[in-house]
Amino acid sequence: MTYRHRHLLGIEPLAPSDITTILDLADRYVTLNRASDKHGDALAGRTQVNMFFENSTRTQASFELAGLRLGADVMNMSMQASSIKKGETLIDTAMTLNAMHPDLLVVRHPHSGAVNLLAEKVNCAVLNAGDGRHEHPTQALLDALTIRRSKGRLHRLTVAICGDIAHSRVARSNILLLGKMESRIRLIGPPTLMPAGVADWGVEVFDDMRAGLEGADVVMMLRLQKERMDGGFIPSEREYYHRFGLDAEKLGYARSDAIVMHPGPMNRGVEIDGTLADDINRSVIQEQVEMGVAVRMAVMDLLARNLGKPMQTARS
Ligand code: ASP
Repeated sequence: MTYRHRHLLGIEPLAPSDITTILDLADRYVTLNRASDKHGDALAGRTQVNMFFENSTRTQASFELAGLRLGADVMNMSMQASSIKKGETLIDTAMTLNAMHPDLLVVRHPHSGAVNLLAEKVNCAVLNAGDGRHEHPTQALLDALTIRRSKGRLHRLTVAICGDIAHSRVARSNILLLGKMESRIRLIGPPTLMPAGVADWGVEVFDDMRAGLEGADVVMMLRLQKERMDGGFIPSEREYYHRFGLDAEKLGYARSDAIVMHPGPMNRGVEIDGTLADDINRSVIQEQVEMGVAVRMAVMDLLARNLGKPMQTARS
């Protein structure tokens, strides 16, 4: 099993074989997590520090659980209470932590690129838990594991990603990953929520949801990222739900075995109908959460194996 990276900063630097390595190991951790004794020792003696400068429920909890299950000492830094509030820069905070010799640093930050910057300053492995609208690599990996387990493959699938693409790091990481694994990607949403330059991304773009969903194998819904919007991007939530909210009628245009995904947190009645989100015959939203723990165990295990080794790709 070879994985030649020092950090996990994004999907961009990964080769398809790296992705397959992570998913194969994560599959083994799914089995461990379903057993009554859930303990492994891949991170025994290691110190994992979680630094979340932005709110998180699933990601922080699953990184914490992943580290604990593999035997790491896990510390959650409360960034609200830290010296950042007193004006210390991100780099100063990172250098202070670095002096305590962590092995794995898990970072979420509202600014795109902040996690990459931090990775250049510390000696440990850095994992990007979401930076601004840039990347959220473990989300794309857990989505890929969910899709692969449900569809049996990642190639030659039609994946529709719907909603606020412009502000979504989840969309960006998924587009990169699914593109590398040779799936067809369709982006669906109002033109105001499409990123600039999307025409060059090698994806199909739709502003008619029914046309975009036609024949899709996977339907991935996204939340409106209001915290990243600085103006009116949609006329009203009601109007948005009417045109772009996923309900049973619109899902009828996708393949009859299409799965419904959402990274959470979900806004029921805005981007997705609540009954559909809970329909265990269509929705794999709970599986995504389960896969999240296994994927985070796998990436931390692989990165810990490389600690102290000279890496070809020291910056990725
Ligand atoms: N939880 C995901 C993220 O951190 C998606 C979202 O917040 O809408 O990007």
